[in-house]
Amino acid sequence: MMKINLLRIVPFFMVFITLFLNTINASAIKEIKAELVSGGHLIGQLQVSAALRFNGKMIPTDETGYFQLGFSRELAGLHEIEVITPDQPISYYPIWIDVREFNVQRVNGVDQAKVTPPKSLQARIEREYFLVKAAKEKQTSIAAWREESFVWPIFGRITGVYGSQRFYNGIPGSPHWGVDMAARQGTPIYAPASGLVTLAENDLYFSGGTVILDHGNGLTSSFLHLSKLNVEPGLYLKQGEILGFVGSTGRSTGPHLDWRMNLGDTRIDAQLWVPNMDSLCVFSTKACPTPKNISQQEELQWLHNRKAFLARSLSGS
Ligand SMILES: [Zn+2]
Repeated sequence: MMKINLLRIVPFFMVFITLFLNTINASAIKEIKAELVSGGHLIGQLQVSAALRFNGKMIPTDETGYFQLGFSRELAGLHEIEVITPDQPISYYPIWIDVREFNVQRVNGVDQAKVTPPKSLQARIEREYFLVKAAKEKQTSIAAWREESFVWPIFGRITGVYGSQRFYNGIPGSPHWGVDMAARQGTPIYAPASGLVTLAENDLYFSGGTVILDHGNGLTSSFLHLSKLNVEPGLYLKQGEILGFVGSTGRSTGPHLDWRMNLGDTRIDAQLWVPNMDSLCVFSTKACPTPKNISQQEELQWLHNRKAFLARSLSGS
């Protein structure tokens, strides 16, 4: 009994203390875009000249004070951004990260060699792991991460989501990190935001045809299972340019796109960067009402996505 009571009381007490500490510097941070859930992100702007720390890591800010945080699948509850100003005590900016429930997804009919790879392939798998890791670690000064309103790379039926616990042929695998969308083989995939191609590989063991785009400040998008690539490393893609085509290469049971996002080495939920797919009426030919109760910023992004959907439908993709 005692334990339950304590668990209930402690969070309130912590919020109280944090709010008290924070009164010193409550306006230090302006929130530009906040998805305060596990797998979410926060784009903010510093209103003072200071350094930031979150979860023990220093957070880079750009020349205009913008910064970005990514919340892992496991991160939830009360956390603080530490605002470090020279010659002043550290002030704390509290954020509450909502817990999410992740479902279990069973995927059967997967090539068994892609579930339990033979020993002979270990070296290849390891080499590819480091190739992908290095591509995500490249640092560029591209500002797409804070300047652009992201657009779905393809529009389609969502068949897999971020964070779900996966079983492949009954064997537990790592959580699923991307959003899966079923689509016809060969459907063009468009850059959701501008970025530099840091990886373009035709045949990675698990992810098949793979492209990684760097949107700046450590934010990357990965596109998996492509049938054909349309880019090479080093190419700068503008938002809406075609990076490749949907396929079923690597560990896949049918044509689909798996779109993943990372902030540094934190895997975040790509779906939180774009409007709700259902709200865009992608399977209907009727007029599509603008969703109610959304912010002006969200409405602009919704219109931007709806326009892209209509343009792509007209071009037959
Ligand atoms: Zn997937």
